[in-house]
Amino acid sequence: MSVLEIKQLHASIEDKEILKGVDLVVKTGEVHAIMGPNGTGKSTLSSVIMGHPHYKVTSGDILLDGESILDWSVDERARAGLFLAMQYPSEISGVTNAELIRTAMNARRPNNPISVMQFIKEMDQQMASLHMDEDMAERYVNEGFSGGEKKRNEILQMKLLSPKVAILDEIDSGLDIDALKIVADGVNDMRGDTFGALMITHYKRLLDYIHPDVVHIMMDGRIVQTGDMTLVNQLEEHGYQAIAESMQIDWKGE
Ligand code: ADP
Ligand code: MG
Repeated sequence: MSVLEIKQLHASIEDKEILKGVDLVVKTGEVHAIMGPNGTGKSTLSSVIMGHPHYKVTSGDILLDGESILDWSVDERARAGLFLAMQYPSEISGVTNAELIRTAMNARRPNNPISVMQFIKEMDQQMASLHMDEDMAERYVNEGFSGGEKKRNEILQMKLLSPKVAILDEIDSGLDIDALKIVADGVNDMRGDTFGALMITHYKRLLDYIHPDVVHIMMDGRIVQTGDMTLVNQLEEHGYQAIAESMQIDWKGE
């Protein structure tokens, strides 16, 4: 079993504090959902977990299997089994999807590189499961991909890299219902003892397809409530303002 632990994490960007004491524990075998209004720090949390150099951790800790990863580079975190599906995936001109994924896979298994045949087989299989065109393997990463194709591509990378803990930042945004089901199936396929996920979303819709074990509400740079799907239903009914009032959080709305 693997555990990602976030302890009283404070982080800022350009001297503006965004994360104001986040506490969270995600274990393999579990899928957690984080919901929260725009600008609350959800993407910041994802980037900080992955080690994005723009953000500064001012206090608190992030531990993977008991070891602090704060000093680790993005690469080291990825090799250790963390994965981030970005809200806005970047385009990488000149590097094909297949090259990127094979390099990343081999970085996770330095003493046992995957054979080209085996790689092609796995990539073809996973692309088919995500209903992706075969030519996407040889296209430059995300270049000219539609919003939906980018999201599928993030899930493709996740499936081939098989991370211990995946952070999925709004993998549902911009997807029509068919694409949403395909992406959700991709995540559900991964569920099991060796995989955990932290799934960020605005919409209950995604959670109807990927049933989370735990639901968190994030507001103003903190996790303010933790529960199960009933929390999502309450949120749908009463909105964030009601939560802010009940938790005495100073929140003015978006
Ligand atoms: P969420 O994903 O919950 O919508 P974000 O983590 O993207 O929120 O943003 C949290 C806050 O951090 C917002 O107020 C946003 O304006 C601010 N922020 C994010 N990135 C930057 C940046 N590069 N420079 C300055 N402020 C930023
Ligand atoms: Mg965001």
